[in-house]
Amino acid sequence: DVKELIRFAAANNTSLIPRTAGTSLAGQCVGEGIVVDVSKYFTGILEVNEEERTVKVQPGVIRDDLNRFLEPYGLFFGPNTSTSNRCMIGGMVGNNSSGTTSIKYGVTRDKVLELKVLLSDGSEAVFSEVSSEEFRDKMQLDSMEGEIYRKLYEELKPESVQEQITDGFPKAEIHRRNTGYAIDSLIDTEVFSGTSKKLNIAELLCGSEGTLAFTTEITLRLDPLPPKNAVMIAAHFESVEKCLQAVVPAMRHSLFTCEMMDKVILDCTKNSIKYRENRFFIEGDPAAILMLELRAEEETELLDQTAALIKTLTDSGLAYALPVLRNDTIDLALELRKAGLGLLGNIVGDRKAVACIEDTAVAVEDLADYINEFSALMKEYGQDAVYYAHAGAGELHLRPILNLKKEEDVRLFRKITEDVAALVKKYGGSMSGEHGDGRVRAEFIEFMIGAENYLLLKKVKNIFDPEHIFNPGKIIDAPPMDEDLRYRPGRKEPEIETLMDFSDSLGILRGAENCNGSGDCRKPAEAGGTMCPSYRATRNEKDTTRARANALREFLTNSNKENRFDHHELKEVLELCISCKGCKSECPSNVDMAAYKAEFQYQYQKKNGSSLRSKAFAFNTRFNKLATHFPNVSNAVFSNSLSSGMIKKVLG
Ligand SMILES: Cc1cc2nc3c(=O)[nH]c(=O)nc-3n(C[C@H](O)[C@H](O)[C@H](O)COP(=O)(O)OP(=O)(O)OC[C@H]3O[C@@H](n4cnc5c(N)ncnc54)[C@H](O)[C@@H]3O)c2cc1C
Ligand code: SF4
Repeated sequence: DVKELIRFAAANNTSLIPRTAGTSLAGQCVGEGIVVDVSKYFTGILEVNEEERTVKVQPGVIRDDLNRFLEPYGLFFGPNTSTSNRCMIGGMVGNNSSGTTSIKYGVTRDKVLELKVLLSDGSEAVFSEVSSEEFRDKMQLDSMEGEIYRKLYEELKPESVQEQITDGFPKAEIHRRNTGYAIDSLIDTEVFSGTSKKLNIAELLCGSEGTLAFTTEITLRLDPLPPKNAVMIAAHFESVEKCLQAVVPAMRHSLFTCEMMDKVILDCTKNSIKYRENRFFIEGDPAAILMLELRAEEETELLDQTAALIKTLTDSGLAYALPVLRNDTIDLALELRKAGLGLLGNIVGDRKAVACIEDTAVAVEDLADYINEFSALMKEYGQDAVYYAHAGAGELHLRPILNLKKEEDVRLFRKITEDVAALVKKYGGSMSGEHGDGRVRAEFIEFMIGAENYLLLKKVKNIFDPEHIFNPGKIIDAPPMDEDLRYRPGRKEPEIETLMDFSDSLGILRGAENCNGSGDCRKPAEAGGTMCPSYRATRNEKDTTRARANALREFLTNSNKENRFDHHELKEVLELCISCKGCKSECPSNVDMAAYKAEFQYQYQKKNGSSLRSKAFAFNTRFNKLATHFPNVSNAVFSNSLSSGMIKKVLG
């Protein structure tokens, strides 16, 4: 099917946007073309090799599902995003995802051994490690695959080019680096610089955001399960600065996690029905908390490690409280941190924590200075930044709070991003550590790595995809970040009159706008919770809470009809919502779709009347009563498959 689509796209001058769970934060899966959602049917776990610790999967396998499957083998796939209960391996490879565990287990690129892909001419290729000799053999191939090896060699072989790449790309010690295509990881190999590392083009495809090839199979390197015994020290600080100063001494210990969240995130959890209970370990009103996890097989070893870490933190005099969490309670605390980005959607009204500079990474040693300068910059802009992050990896998710419906804030959106890009460059950092460049950051790649390196990236794109069939406008030739935004600044937003009272979210439209696309409603039943049963049944994106919120927002904003609810598309996406209210408590933005559906039905039926099916349900007891007068006839009609089938069909 994908081959067919590639042929179709080439013949019709259109493009394909590969997609799995669609949880990307930088607009990787939006654009013009055909969205190819492989999350429903490419879900096979194809092969496990216990001895070699590898697994082969299709791109639509959910990260946590994979680890549940691998647990009996004593193995797991390390990279662990906050979205791990619904994001999929294809998307993790596409974005070179990372998450809480990277300080111990590395990022997705470190784990990808082999990729089976379809190239832009529809041919198949398998990319894995090759020695210099195998590389030469590959160059002889009379196919697009051979062409890729030949042309990459031509472009990357000159020593001056390699120097230019090393100089322009982020500092080598930053292990979270998603700036453009990873040509820097190709040159440090036997083929190009005589090192012992074998070249693997899969490393280049990792983080290429679906712009170079379409992945159909992924072979991953696995790790043995981490030691069961765990301790987490949740160090409390009176200021963000003190918290960041504590990162370097803490990182000298063998940490499994080093995550930070600030007061803004913590305050969001106060009003979340779901996460309020997870705040049990918080003492006082900390400006920031650093969550430091230790693990060991033996209890005594773990206690020794804990004592040593507490001593380091106490000696530093930076933290004011050091509560120690054990095993199960750690998960509750980590859940709070995981909810961080999603919970930011709880800010009621038009001001939102906006993703643009939320993914910068610098060397850990530079972090405190970088953040000092960053904070000064934010102060100049009158911004209360939100600090939330993988501090141990030098990465903070910093989000300015902006109202993108206002022209001056759209200007700030760009200006802040430009200034932060300059600051990151000053520290030799990466504008994207793990979320990818997508639509938001791609226009800054040239500035970050220099014009010549950017030209090289363009050549790489043209080698793989000369017709730009795969996900155009990402990484290369991206339109400006402030073009094609959801809102036209200055536009007067419609006031939607409703029967029900939605004043707590400032109206139904703003309630729907609260959905920030985090895709929590796509988590499977195995991940626990309820939301969203209709998606769980069909596994179609259109049956998620997210799709419903998006459709409502779109029609309520842009409809030309007097009754903006009067659209059959809205009926279609809301049809399978069973009004279970799962989303009201489980959606991090508390999107209450059951209430919106009730309002929709009232408004839609005002114009279109109610369906025969609804009437049949509504008058069910009357019909049943009537049927009791003719029991033989009614039983015969309903037990005969032909007549009962016809009745069901007619009633919808
Ligand atoms: C609340 C929240 C928290 C997050 N936290 C983290 C975090 O801690 N760490 C982190 O790294 N990321 C994080 N992310 C970002 C995101 O969840 C990850 O990048 C995730 O791995 C994306 O997976 P997905 O299945 O949603 O991919 P998608 O968004 O569907 O796709 C990602 C990219 O991969 C490409 N792609 C997908 N399938 C294929 C294929 N078959 N062939 C070729 N290309 C393909 C797409 O075109 C796209 O460019 C977070 C996002 C949210 C909303
Ligand atoms: S109320 Fe509707 S949208 Fe919300 S979880 Fe239940 S079925 Fe899904």
